[in-house]
Parts: sequence; structure tokens; C-alpha cells
Amino acid sequence: MKVPMVDMLAGYPPIKDEVEAAVKRVFDKAHFILGEDVTKFETEFAAHNGAKYCVGVANGTDALRMAYIASGIKKGDEVITSPFTFIATSETISQIGAVPVFADIDPVTYNLDPKSVEKKITPKTRAIVPVHLYGMPCDMDAIMAIAKKHNLIVVEDTAQAFTGKYKPAAGDWKYLGTMGHCGTFSFFPAKNLGAFGDGGAVLTNDDKIHETLKQLRNHGSKVRYHHEMEGFNSRLDTVQAAILSIRLKHVEKWTEMRNKVAARYAEQLKGVCETPVVPANARHSFNYYTIRFDSKAKRDNAQKHLTELGIANQIYYPIALHLQEAYAHLGGKKGDLPACDRVQDTVFSLPMFPELTDEQIKAVTDAVKDSLKVHA
Ligand SMILES: *Cc1c(COP(=O)(O)O)cnc(C)c1O
Repeated sequence: MKVPMVDMLAGYPPIKDEVEAAVKRVFDKAHFILGEDVTKFETEFAAHNGAKYCVGVANGTDALRMAYIASGIKKGDEVITSPFTFIATSETISQIGAVPVFADIDPVTYNLDPKSVEKKITPKTRAIVPVHLYGMPCDMDAIMAIAKKHNLIVVEDTAQAFTGKYKPAAGDWKYLGTMGHCGTFSFFPAKNLGAFGDGGAVLTNDDKIHETLKQLRNHGSKVRYHHEMEGFNSRLDTVQAAILSIRLKHVEKWTEMRNKVAARYAEQLKGVCETPVVPANARHSFNYYTIRFDSKAKRDNAQKHLTELGIANQIYYPIALHLQEAYAHLGGKKGDLPACDRVQDTVFSLPMFPELTDEQIKAVTDAVKDSLKVHA
């Protein structure tokens, strides 16, 4: 049985009429840049997350870039982040003249290891960027405590983790992306809340950061042709905003469905390989479902076997950032971040989307089990 990685259209039929009507409404109004639909989505997205402000931007990469600038990261500052993430997290650090510093990850959650973060702090450290990888919440209590102690900015890269939650030891459950100075989101089609094109957002509770973000996304201006600073052309597209408002109403249900798929996977893969371990104080958004083998050979065999059967799969991420050519100048090498080395060689992501059927799940898990038999 062929199984795709994601099925972008599976959730579409029930909302098709509503989406088409919304697109038509935007076209009829011919108000294509910002305007009511963007403001409406921003208000809804902020409210959903329990944040004070949301600023809609062009994509999740620009969301990071502008969150870094707006929260006060400057040229020459060191920014500690995960080496085990998509390059968008770090390229935007370099592109504003700051320096990414990669700390090691926790071998169970694959997220930043707070102990390693603390060891990387120097007098130049200005910020920490935790990435809630695959939708798994970072250890935010520990990260926020380090940030407080050293007076650092925290920008949460929440691109893969909208609808994920974390319960701090002191306090109520919080949506990911609302605990740091800023939280950044991507509405790339394959994320939990996908647009029909690119889109992104930044959440913040800070009045000043909010004002700066609004300026940054629109060439540094509040009033047209008056520029207090340089900015970007990075607004959330109005058609996408109208579509996102509709999809937002379904996203919690979709995350519940993803969590059910994850539970089935875990059941069937028990004793076969490592499956995600979600702490009691966390809700995983399961943007991706990632398993781990005890050797690279087993992982590589599984990948080969599933691919032969037409079962989509992916390694997020085969080469950690500190080992990428783009960061050769930072001098990272194998052995520097041992947990990350082990994890990048043994992880493996399976198809994951809300509508995955029991039959498809069984085909995937049977294939994983068979790959171990055949090649063991
Ligand atoms: C997708 C992603 C981004 C970038 O989002 P885009 O909308 O594609 O620009 C940033 N960080 C992480 C961890 C991502 O997965």
C-alpha cells in the first residue's frame, strides 16, 4: 500500500465551499494587501494562543528574522540555538549579523538541552532560540530560568508546534510560542495550520515589540512614506489570511486526530524502536512523527525498505546545522555535540497527517518491522 507523507487535500472537502466563498470575497473587495481579513486572522490567532498580539508576516523564516530584530538582537550578538532544526532558525540569525551558537540536544526529546545551553553562555550571549521540534515542547521552565538568570531574550521557533502546549511548574497550561519574548509560526502548507501558499506570524505580549514588528513587515513605516527605520516587504497575504481564519477553526480537532495516529503508531511499534516520549506537562502537536533506531544501519535499512514499498518517509534532519558546509566557518565538527550526532544518524520520520487510516498506519508499522527482520 502506498502511503504519502502528508495528504494536503484530505481535510479540504468539508471546508471547500467556505474557502471558495472567502477567496471570492477578497477578490470582490480587491483589497489585496493587509486590510480587514489580515487583522481578523491576527486577532483570532492571538486569542487562540492566549497572546496579546499577533503580527501576520510572509512566512515562518521572515517571522524569525523580524522577531530577532524586534526583540533587540543586534550585530555581533551570540544567539544560542539547536543544531537539530531547519536552517531557517539559524540563517536568519547570521543574516542580521548575529552569530548562531549551537548547543547540544536532549537525546529523548531532541530539543535543546538546557545544561548544554548554560555551558555555551559567554559575555556576548544575547538570546536563546528554543525550537519545539516536530511539535514537541522544549523544557521551557529550564530555558526561561536560564534566560532570566543571564538576562537573555527568548524567541521560540514554533514553526512545527502550533497547538502544542506546555505546563510550567508554576502556572497553567500555555500554548507554545507564548512564553518567550516572541513566538514565531509558519503556515507553510505542511505545518499543523497550513495556508494554501506561504504565510507566517509572530506572537508577543510586549507592546514595543508589537509596534516594531508591524513596522518591520512594512518597510519600517507606520505612516506611508514615513520611515523611522528600514524594514522588509513581508506581510501575510490577504487571501491566505482569509483561508487561515477558516482552517483555524478546525486545527484543534486535527491535532487531536494527529495525537490519535501517534498513539496507534506507538502501540504497534512498542519494543520495535523508540517512539516519541511526551512528558506529562506537554501536549505534542505531532507535525511530524519521528521514531529512532539503535543503529544507523537499521535506520538506513528502514528507509530503503519503506521507499521500495512506496511508503513516504523522511529524515528530519540528516545533517545537523553545525556540520553543514554553510557553517564550516564556525568550526563545528563531529563529536562536539555527541547527543546530536547520535540522533541525526538514527531518527526516521513516518507519514503523519490527521486523516491517516488504521490500514495505512498498519502498512507503515508492518514495513518498519519487516525492515528489521529482512536486514537484521
Ligand atoms: C518550516 C520551518 C521554518 C520556516 O518556515 P517557512 O514558513 O517555511 O519560512 C522555520 N523553522 C522551522 C523549525 C521550520 O520547520
